[in-house]
Amino acid sequence: MPPQSTIARRIRFHGIGLHSGEEVEIALCPGDPDSGVVFVALGNRGGGKADSGGDVEIPACVEAIHSSSRATTLAQIADGRQSASGGRVSPTRQVATVEHLLATIFAFEIDNLRIEVSGSEIPAMDGSAAPLVERLRSAGRTTQAGTRAEFSIDQPIEICEGNRSVRIDPAEELRISYAIDFDHPCIGRQCFELTHLDEKLFERELAPARTFGFAHEVEALHRAGLALGGRIENTVVLDDEKVLNEDGLRWPDEFVRHKVVDLIGDLALLGARPNVHIQVVRGGHRLHHGMVEALWATRSKSSIARSPRVPAPTSP
Ligand SMILES: [Zn+2]
Repeated sequence: MPPQSTIARRIRFHGIGLHSGEEVEIALCPGDPDSGVVFVALGNRGGGKADSGGDVEIPACVEAIHSSSRATTLAQIADGRQSASGGRVSPTRQVATVEHLLATIFAFEIDNLRIEVSGSEIPAMDGSAAPLVERLRSAGRTTQAGTRAEFSIDQPIEICEGNRSVRIDPAEELRISYAIDFDHPCIGRQCFELTHLDEKLFERELAPARTFGFAHEVEALHRAGLALGGRIENTVVLDDEKVLNEDGLRWPDEFVRHKVVDLIGDLALLGARPNVHIQVVRGGHRLHHGMVEALWATRSKSSIARSPRVPAPTSP
């Protein structure tokens, strides 16, 4: 099995959160072997806010999934064990929109990483993972002690929610077949087939695909406190007939490609490389999270080289 890896040096970048609209600073720092990918929600640095608490660690794992609404939001796990500074833990510290960064980390086969976040959301950048690929590459990479955890299943898993579904079958390596179907002249039915995943392929075929949204939804999203940082510069925006971005699309099927990026980011929450064939029809974060929870639940029964950082679920 291949060795674990982390980045060679600490890097920083900043940007605006798609949903919160807040300016956020991010620092990617090398992680220790077997520590996994961990977000660190930074506490208030002397700003005097009474409820800010200390730094809070939020591991990128299935148990930390907090919300599936329009993005993947992770929150501290309720037992308070993530109190990195040993101080009082403030309630429900969270990090939203982690999926594009996690997808990039997963594609780059980085096992251990600390991600310090000054706010509550990962910056949207240009709405795609391409700027994150660039930044992660600039951080270099180094191999570590310990082997990468892999994960396989014995039996197929199927989840259906109305006309949405996901099916997972045993496979030699990760393979993804994704289909979407939107009643819109620019989207319609789109399918994308990923027969294997590596860094180069992710960079070339998936990372540049941007988040998309519909102009008619903007008002409702804003009322729900979402998409407050959404701009034509970080989202493909469609009205009822066309794409409103002046430069158009990066691929005719940019929409389904972006869905695959989101799926890979959600898969990263397993903390192990799943050797499975995943077939998704009309997916979204809620379905993806149901899928990783089902995969997670099979871990205790499956043949898995398990990393020690996250306990496997106990059988009921
Ligand atoms: Zn996305």
